[in-house]
Amino acid sequence: MKRTLRSISIIIPAHNESANVAWFLESIQKVTKKITDYRFDYIFVDDGSTDDTLAVLRKLSEQNDDCRFISFSRNFGKEAATSAGLAETTADAAIFMDADGQHPAELLPKFIKKWEAGSEVVIGMRQSNTNEGFVKKYGSKLFYLLLSTFIGPDTNSGATDFRLIDRKVIDEFLRLTEHNRMTRGLIDWLGFERTYIPFSAPERHSGVATYNYVKLLRLALHGFVSQTTKPLQIAGVLGFVVTTVSIIATVFILINDLFGDPLNLAITGTAVLTLILSFLVGLVLICQWLLALYIESIHTETQNRPLYIISTRSK
Ligand code: UDP
Ligand code: MG
Repeated sequence: MKRTLRSISIIIPAHNESANVAWFLESIQKVTKKITDYRFDYIFVDDGSTDDTLAVLRKLSEQNDDCRFISFSRNFGKEAATSAGLAETTADAAIFMDADGQHPAELLPKFIKKWEAGSEVVIGMRQSNTNEGFVKKYGSKLFYLLLSTFIGPDTNSGATDFRLIDRKVIDEFLRLTEHNRMTRGLIDWLGFERTYIPFSAPERHSGVATYNYVKLLRLALHGFVSQTTKPLQIAGVLGFVVTTVSIIATVFILINDLFGDPLNLAITGTAVLTLILSFLVGLVLICQWLLALYIESIHTETQNRPLYIISTRSK
């Protein structure tokens, strides 16, 4: 009797990667060809590319039986693309990989070994990224510092989307409904048995990273807001701090008034007013901003629009 092989889907989100996808498929097939214990397939998700990515994917899917694609009606973001890839696969495990070669294919055997050994989630940990700028590097450090402060030490800095997840995890992931999503955060939230594999990310094969600082900041903010409501309490803490500070300031002003400026502070009334007013207005605005983030999040969740729209797919 012929034994049916267990299967693994490679899920590749691609936004304007026409110069990379064919090269990527070839380089990954070179690796998977040697892993004969599993049947591999490749699911490309064209995330509203404005270059020839779709045309290239069409050709690739015609030439390779194990390669297919879905194409979004517009750019929905990498998080939506990875979710769409997961909804497509029926495999026993899925591995997310970037189309630009920054997730080294040579590591696949290592990922699979860990999975075979019982890990349901195998996570690539980025050690260094040669083309990472100062802002991105320290920005992401700060983000993870904040996350670990608010959520707990479980969120690992350097953990990437380059990860293998077992069928069990895929099924649970597909039950999640939030729209503001960060795939890696959600997978972390799901729990399961995890292992980490360190790797260093090479430069992009071709083109430039499409995530600019503004997009990254938005993603970081939404990831943050969707994972914790603790910042809401900051408003309360700030309120107490401000009240205490103003009580102390009032004491100084009273001393100034009653005892004829013994500390020689020469505080003018206007200065006091200006200082306190601007301070308070600043704090109120910060608190409003925090609230607004949550309201925005509630707003998109209640709208309950589909996560993405597929305009076309491979035959
Ligand atoms: N990507 C996507 N949609 C986007 C932006 C990026 O599907 O809106 C894909 C992109 O094609 C790549 C992966 O997500 O395969 C990582 O993106 P990129 O290399 O631009 O970012 P990096 O993480 O390297 O900074
Ligand atoms: Mg990249």
